[in-house]
Amino acid sequence: MAHPDSVTTAWIRAQPKAELHLHLEGSISPALALALAQKHGRSLPGMADGVDGVARQFVFGDFERFITVFLAVSDCLREEEDFCAAVVGLAEHLASQGVVAAQVTVTAMTHLRRGGSETALLSGLQRGRAEARRRFGVSIAYIFDIVCLFPEQAEPTLNVALRGREAGVVGLGLAGPEARSAPIPEFERVFERAAHEGLRCVPHAGEHGGADRIRACVERLHATRIGHGVRCLEDPTVVALLRDRGVALEVCPTSNVLLGVAPSLATHPLPALLREGLRITVASDDPALFGTDMLTELARCSEAFGWSRETVAAICADGIALAGVTSDAA
Ligand SMILES: [Zn+2]
Repeated sequence: MAHPDSVTTAWIRAQPKAELHLHLEGSISPALALALAQKHGRSLPGMADGVDGVARQFVFGDFERFITVFLAVSDCLREEEDFCAAVVGLAEHLASQGVVAAQVTVTAMTHLRRGGSETALLSGLQRGRAEARRRFGVSIAYIFDIVCLFPEQAEPTLNVALRGREAGVVGLGLAGPEARSAPIPEFERVFERAAHEGLRCVPHAGEHGGADRIRACVERLHATRIGHGVRCLEDPTVVALLRDRGVALEVCPTSNVLLGVAPSLATHPLPALLREGLRITVASDDPALFGTDMLTELARCSEAFGWSRETVAAICADGIALAGVTSDAA
């Protein structure tokens, strides 16, 4: 029988939580993705075999397939209703885990670049957010991210993010393959403006890229949180910088293992990050494609690292604080 103080999944579910690192396009269920693909006559890997075929493609195989599926799903989001349905579906799943607030990353330019309508995007997100709160009591906000391969999209992304504030956009992100990224200084001006306009600056860094990139994001891009950031441990001065400035890391353990950032959960650097006194939050990254969610991540970590209720409760409470909501208001 479980010890009364043990960290069970039911106990973690009961803790109010905020998820701060997940991508809308990677959160869509196979059933919704298939329905959207059929509605718009788009093709989706595995769709010839129905929802089971799509679901099989959603199981992580390798990075190539992950990107193919991610982009194919993105391509099915076309109309206001589609964005709304994606957010509402995600909110229902978040509520079932005891997640009361989420900051959801949306790659706006992927949709707009192929001629998608900005009005459909922003109205859909806004409606989805309202419905998420009304039906599931989940507070949703958005981060619009720049793909780091395309510095020319930085300015347009910021502009649409600013126009999207009423729709719930609260931050500017930076994501994509760090190894092939444009140099950080090319994004400096746009993040400067984002910070000045009151958006949170939350770039991904230190996942496939090294500690230097984390430093550059903190020192030059006004980062208040870092997506991933696990490779800060390669440079003690970067660890000190993060600690001194209270910059939190959004750690996504299953994503890291599947994408080869850490060889296994047992050897994941998360315990070392906590020992260094860093602020961390635990998240799923792309829940539908990595077969996980925030609750599962916390349960897996608790089991692998022997976390106490106190540790998990502190991580959950800090996540709520980082989301800028109170658990009763959320
Ligand atoms: Zn991410």
